[in-house]
Amino acid sequence: MADENRARTAAETGKTQVLVVGAGIAGLAAALRMSRQGRDVVVVERAPSRRSSGYLVNLHGPGYDAAERLGLLPALTPHDIGFFTSILVHADGREKFRLPAAVAQAAVGNRALTLFRGDLESALYHAVAEHADIRFGTTVQALTQNADAVDATLSDGTHIRAELLIGADGVHSRIRELVFGPESGYLVDLGHMVGAFPLESAPEHVPEGAGTTFIGPGRTAAVMNLGPKRSSAFFTYRCAETTTELSHGPAPALTEAFGDLGRGVAEALHQLDADPAGAYFDSVGQIVMDRWSEGRVVLLGDAAWCVTVFAGYGAALALDGADRLGEALATKDDIPRALTAWEASLRPEVGKRQTLARKGMSRFAPSTRAQVRAGELMLRAIQLPGIRTLVQRSIQRANN
Ligand SMILES: Cc1cc2nc3c(=O)[nH]c(=O)nc-3n(C[C@H](O)[C@H](O)[C@H](O)COP(=O)(O)OP(=O)(O)OC[C@H]3O[C@@H](n4cnc5c(N)ncnc54)[C@H](O)[C@@H]3O)c2cc1C
Repeated sequence: MADENRARTAAETGKTQVLVVGAGIAGLAAALRMSRQGRDVVVVERAPSRRSSGYLVNLHGPGYDAAERLGLLPALTPHDIGFFTSILVHADGREKFRLPAAVAQAAVGNRALTLFRGDLESALYHAVAEHADIRFGTTVQALTQNADAVDATLSDGTHIRAELLIGADGVHSRIRELVFGPESGYLVDLGHMVGAFPLESAPEHVPEGAGTTFIGPGRTAAVMNLGPKRSSAFFTYRCAETTTELSHGPAPALTEAFGDLGRGVAEALHQLDADPAGAYFDSVGQIVMDRWSEGRVVLLGDAAWCVTVFAGYGAALALDGADRLGEALATKDDIPRALTAWEASLRPEVGKRQTLARKGMSRFAPSTRAQVRAGELMLRAIQLPGIRTLVQRSIQRANN
C-alpha cells in the first residue's frame, strides 16, 4: 500500500488497523503478511535496535514452505550456511567419529535452509520496513479492549487504537501477562538451560566447514567453524534450579557446566567471557495455553506456544503461524471468529512439535553413560543406507 493511502486511511478512520508487539520472527512475519493485505501496521519493539546474528536455525518442511509463501527465499538463500560435517568428540576434544554433510542432506532433503537467526530477521525486516511503521525502544504499558477496538498505551506516552493487537513478544510475553495473567500459569519448565552465541573469530581447534559436538550425561556442547563472523557455539544442560542458574549469567554458568571440556569448547567459552553481550542464555520452557486469543488480542509465536529449542521448529511455526493468520483474516470479516478458525488450524502442528520436543530432550542431555552410548550407536547407524532411509521417512512423517 502506498504511503499516502496508508496515511489517508489512518486519518479517516482515526485508528491503526493492526498493532504488532515484538519485531522478532513472528512479529515481522505477521506485519509483512498484514501490510500485504493493505492494512495499516504499527510494530513496537522493546529493544533499542535490531538484534545481532545470534544462533543458527534450520528451516525445512512447513517452515521452508511458509518462507516461500512469504516471498522470502530470494533474500534468505544467499545466507544459507548449508549442511556441514558433524564431528562427535570426547571430553578432551579428540574425534570419535564423523557424520558427513551428505548424511544430513539426504535425511532432510533440498528444501531446507540453515541460517543465523539474525539473517532471517533481517530478511523479514527489509521486506516489511517500507510498508509498516516500526518503532524501536517502545513497548505497550497497558491495554483495554471492547467489541470494536483495542486501546494500547505505549511506553512513550502515546496511545494507539487498533482493530487487532498481535502479541509476538516472545516466550516471556508482556502482552500474555496483561491479557491472560502471569507467566507461571503457562510456562512448563523443562529443567534445562540453553546458551548460544556467535563467535567473533573462527575456533582454531574445529576444522573449517565442520562442527564438533560433545554429548555427555546431562549435557551437549557444539562448536561450529564456518569462518570468521559465521562461527557459533551452542550449549544445553540439565539443571534443577533454572532460576538460580539464570541469575549467574551466561559466562559463569556455562563455564561452570562445561569448563572441563577441551579444544573448541574451551575457545568458545573464552570468547564468551571476553564478550558476553551477544549471548542467548535462558531456561528451556514450553508455553502451554488453552487459547491464544481473547477478543481482539492474539498471541503469536513463542508468546503463545513456545515449543523450545529441543523442537528445532519455533521459527518455522512463527512463520507458518503468521502466514496462516493473514489467510484467516483475509477470508473472514469478523476478527474473533477468524482468530478461532486460525487457532483450530494450527493447534495440531503445535501440539505435535511440543510432544516431539519433550521426547527429544534426552538426545541433548542423556541421563546415563549407557544412554550416551546408545545415542552414538544410532548416529553411527544413520550412515548405513537402510537406516538412512528409515530416518528420512521419520523426518518426512514429522513434516507432514
Ligand atoms: C539456541 C536456539 C536454537 C533454535 N533453533 C531453531 C531451529 O533450528 N529452527 C527453528 O525453527 N527454531 C529454532 N529455535 C526457536 C526460534 O528461534 C524461536 O522459536 C523463534 O525465534 C520465536 O520467534 P518469536 O518472534 O515468537 O520470538 P522472538 O524471536 O523471541 O522475538 C520476540 C521479540 O519481541 C521483543 N519483545 C519482548 N518483549 C517485548 C515487549 N514487552 N514489548 C515489545 N517487544 C518485546 C523481543 O525483543 C524480540 O524482538 C531455536 C531457539 C534457540 C534458543
